[in-house]
Amino acid sequence: MRVLVTGGAGYIGSVVAAQLLEGGNEVTVFDDLSTGHEDAVPYGARFIRGSIEHPPLDGMDAVLHFAAKSLVGESVRQPGRYWAHNFVGTAKLLEAMRVRGVRKIVFSSTAATYGEAERLPIQEDHPTRPINPYGASKLAVDHLLGAHAELHGLGAVSLRYFNVAGAYTARDGRVYGERHAPETHLIPNILKVAAGESESVRVFGADFPTPDGTCVRDYIHVADLARAHLLALENCSPATHKIYNLGNGAGSSVMKVLNVAREVTGHPIPALVGNRRPGDPAVLVASSEKIQRELAWKAERGDLETMVSDAWAAFRSPETPQVAPSA
Ligand code: UDP
Repeated sequence: MRVLVTGGAGYIGSVVAAQLLEGGNEVTVFDDLSTGHEDAVPYGARFIRGSIEHPPLDGMDAVLHFAAKSLVGESVRQPGRYWAHNFVGTAKLLEAMRVRGVRKIVFSSTAATYGEAERLPIQEDHPTRPINPYGASKLAVDHLLGAHAELHGLGAVSLRYFNVAGAYTARDGRVYGERHAPETHLIPNILKVAAGESESVRVFGADFPTPDGTCVRDYIHVADLARAHLLALENCSPATHKIYNLGNGAGSSVMKVLNVAREVTGHPIPALVGNRRPGDPAVLVASSEKIQRELAWKAERGDLETMVSDAWAAFRSPETPQVAPSA
């Protein structure tokens, strides 16, 4: 297949692009490099820099759409920017696909579409009441995909990721890890302390209604997550919009992640408890039963120790492209 990967210079998009290439697909990475990095584009992929409002769709069979603003805290401070990029930008992309006759899309949706969990683990029919603009803008895209499927025959799959972690080593030996600049995510922030790049990690709130008071999240390995995209693409049917959760069904608190990282790295990793981060729900744990049942997806690197070890190895590997601070 000829596939356009928007946001393919980012953490998840680059791993999916690498796996698509390994699966024999022709891959074009399309990224505005606002947060992605050109040196994360896999060898063998064509790279085009540009905005999703003007996607290079000629000759494409499908789009894997990752390009987005994806930070919960930032979305609370800059809601307009999130709606403009994530919703308006994607609406334009979908319209361009309709005009050009590109009939398949796999969309990077999120657990943040659900809001506070009313039932655990969260299934796809759980109420969607997002508590931050990031989740709201992604949920609106999910609705729009449903409309395009019904009205225009689009084949669409939304994958609702929980918390993505770990790193991917491609068959050519290249390592794709997570490094944003500035970094806001928990595991890379913890590993920066272990690597001596910062002195301590801040825990955003220890007064949540959870067993140890810190937020509980469901971590999924980036290699497992990427594989789900290839399955979703193979199973994209015309005039159908499917939604699948992707997690491991196991909750880990911020404290648990810290303790696992202390064991993996052998570093004491000092932590300071601070205020809650606006927009953070207390608990997000997925049921991924639907994708296991319908697409035969299975996590292969599902335990937290493996994810943190892989992330730590990538963090220190000379094979990981270095990330320059973004503008
Ligand atoms: N978190 C934290 N300190 C940090 C970064 C994150 O305590 O430096 C917490 C955050 O409040 C959330 C969890 O770790 O409960 C995961 O946050 P992350 O930003 O990694 O992913 P998100 O859940 O926002 O997708």
